[in-house]
Amino acid sequence: MIPVAKPELGEEEIALVAETIRSGWITQGPRVAEFEKAFAGRVGAAHAVAVSNCTTALHLALVASGIGPGDEVIAPPHSFIATANPILYCGARPVFVDIDPETLNMDPRLIPAAITGRTKAIIVVDQVGRPADMAAISAAVRGRGVTIIEDAACATGSVYRGKPVGDNTYSPLVCFSFHPRKVISTGDGGMITTPDADLAARLRLLRQQGMSVNDLERHQSKTVVSEIYPILGYNYRLTDVQAAIGLCQLRRLDAILARRRAIAAHYDRMLAGTPGVRLFAEPADCRWNQQTYLIRLEGSGAARRDTFMQRLLEEGIATRRGIMSIHREASYVERFGPQSFPQSERASDECVCLPLYTQMADADIDRVSAAVRRHAPRP
Ligand SMILES: *Cc1c(COP(=O)(O)O)cnc(C)c1O
Repeated sequence: MIPVAKPELGEEEIALVAETIRSGWITQGPRVAEFEKAFAGRVGAAHAVAVSNCTTALHLALVASGIGPGDEVIAPPHSFIATANPILYCGARPVFVDIDPETLNMDPRLIPAAITGRTKAIIVVDQVGRPADMAAISAAVRGRGVTIIEDAACATGSVYRGKPVGDNTYSPLVCFSFHPRKVISTGDGGMITTPDADLAARLRLLRQQGMSVNDLERHQSKTVVSEIYPILGYNYRLTDVQAAIGLCQLRRLDAILARRRAIAAHYDRMLAGTPGVRLFAEPADCRWNQQTYLIRLEGSGAARRDTFMQRLLEEGIATRRGIMSIHREASYVERFGPQSFPQSERASDECVCLPLYTQMADADIDRVSAAVRRHAPRP
């Protein structure tokens, strides 16, 4: 059986986790601080704040941006539901903007029409790790008082116009995920990068109950410290055990990226010219981390796409449906009624995610490619 994804974990992670456990400090402490510093350094950010996952990262980014009831936040409907749910946690309204089918990212040309007097923020997704067109999106919201929050859950290691995603060139709040389906993993885990020391301090308060002094500072203090709780916060901490895994994963990142890109290039060669199958190219001004290898079965519709996936499963090859359309899910239909975003819906119904993980043998790529060519529905 060829699985769809598999994290790359090894003896280094096991050793550092063991060392961390032996240290006696197992939740947010010195390892988390070390991981934050290493991550910030890697992506060229001034500050990185570790949190429990990317959903909580996005929630804190919205809270730190002052988003609340009555506000509108623009987001793509074509994403994992975690992109939009934090908008609802804040009591704000998600205003969806359809995607460009060439990139599967939000179509910058549709953004100006979605901005109203209530628009406070926009969540831009780097879908499947392919950087969104941040320059065009920044231009579309310029001068409108809209905070750009980047959902880079999938984009660790990707590069946009020569700069690493997360360096805050276009967004003051970039959020990452370390779920096992992403490029590097801590089990669960998340990170927010920001260029602003005050924002970083606020995010640190928010992730730990709004508590003015963190456990590490109190532990290291030579005098008795009494903390205060100036704002309402949450428990969105990352553990030191997870941070230990993250530190090892960061050291592996370049090798992981190289292997993922090689596998994607191999698929590209094997699948080029397959009738009815559209591939997604790397944008000319980006380096794509290949977090997910998607193909589009053009004109297939959901039913024929599902039959294709079933045929592959019967040959021992796991696949997944492409990206969901959030507005079609019950929790959104109940709140906002039926909405229509045709590009998002069509892409959701026609895309399939193929297996891609670093331990995959070239023979496995060939086997998957042959099965795709055999079973792709004819256009
Ligand atoms: C995975 C993912 C998330 C959620 O990340 P978690 O760490 O699982 O909370 C958010 N947005 C996108 C685009 C994702 O792919």
